[in-house]
Amino acid sequence: MSARNILVINCGSSSLKFALVNEAQATFPLQGLAERLGSPEAVVHWQLGDAKESLNLPGADHREILNHVLPLAQEAAGGQLDGIGHRVVHGGEHFTASSLIDANVLEGIRANAQLAPLHNPANLVGIEAAMALFPGLPQVSVFDTAFHQSMPEHAYRYAVPDFLYKEHGVRRYGFHGTSHRYVSKRAAEMMNLPVEDSSWLSAHLGNGCSTCAIVNGESRDTSMGLTPLEGLVMGTRSGDVDPNLHSHLARTLGWSIEQVDRMLNHDSGLKGLSGLSNDMRTLSEARQAGHPGATLAFEVFCYRLAKSLAGMACGLQKLDGLIFTGGIGENSAAVRERTLDHLKLLGFQLDGEANARCTRGVAGEIQVTGSPRVLVVPTNEERQIALDALALLDA
Ligand code: ADP
Repeated sequence: MSARNILVINCGSSSLKFALVNEAQATFPLQGLAERLGSPEAVVHWQLGDAKESLNLPGADHREILNHVLPLAQEAAGGQLDGIGHRVVHGGEHFTASSLIDANVLEGIRANAQLAPLHNPANLVGIEAAMALFPGLPQVSVFDTAFHQSMPEHAYRYAVPDFLYKEHGVRRYGFHGTSHRYVSKRAAEMMNLPVEDSSWLSAHLGNGCSTCAIVNGESRDTSMGLTPLEGLVMGTRSGDVDPNLHSHLARTLGWSIEQVDRMLNHDSGLKGLSGLSNDMRTLSEARQAGHPGATLAFEVFCYRLAKSLAGMACGLQKLDGLIFTGGIGENSAAVRERTLDHLKLLGFQLDGEANARCTRGVAGEIQVTGSPRVLVVPTNEERQIALDALALLDA
């Protein structure tokens, strides 16, 4: 059998990311991004082999983009496309693993839309468009939340009245599950440890950020909650604040729920603290030049991350390693160093040279001898989605 190809699709409300994953190739034969869908500025960028191209498609929606992507994917796959994998944000308590999509699965994704009103409907649009365009191909949904369904009740319940959980699903779900799952498996492979007898702390630090405690290949706790706002400081998201902030701002400034939500999700985090940017690379440069806002944002980001990791340690009996991943985790030696400065009590100490070496896709161990292990592991959510799709095809 020749190596199989899976087209991976990640639909946001006005964007669509895609990648063709070949099971035998380390790089993607095709990958791309369509943005500003539904507007006159709709555009799709893609890279096929070494060639980069862009096309303006004014007014294009998800379906039109997929119409355009299909022939590209077939070309990149040499005419042999074996399946499609869809990233779906919220699987609620319905989905504890990836699923082959049928009418029941579609209904389950729809039923969870209330928990992710911006994301699940966009994911469904992508799935339905792909099913209409590729009716003969198996399609698989891979949920951000599914990995965390193994959390024990004491980790996933909020201390609010019971009926809010039982009747309305108010609990902690967690996100970034595909990434935490992928990097913890990779870490076990890199260290020659059996996944089913290993314990990790993982920090996924991208535009969204979360930590996770992973035991024997299962999530035991994670920093995001009912929504991806809980937990760490992120690009534009505040992470944890006092839950009374909503009522405080309503009382003192007359703000509506929508205004507070917007501020916490879009104007906070690194952007809000620095007054400069949501982008850690920009902030790192500004910090080196002495910018006070960038310095503050960096310091709060690292301290809160360390605090979250120390808390996550409650989910473990032993530690085989702390994993850094995501754009910041994979590239910022300064964030790794400053974060571990705050975790000296747990014995962490970095090897400066190894820490500096692990950037731009270089994986490896970065601690000194005697310190608990610290690993940089590049994430690859597209490959994990394709692996899940292939496993379901084999089953
Ligand atoms: P997304 O969550 O959108 O997938 P990424 O995982 O690509 O995002 O992470 C984006 C973040 O990674 C941005 O804050 C970016 O500035 C940061 N980043 C990328 N390279 C570096 C670097 N060399 N130093 C510091 N931060 C970096």
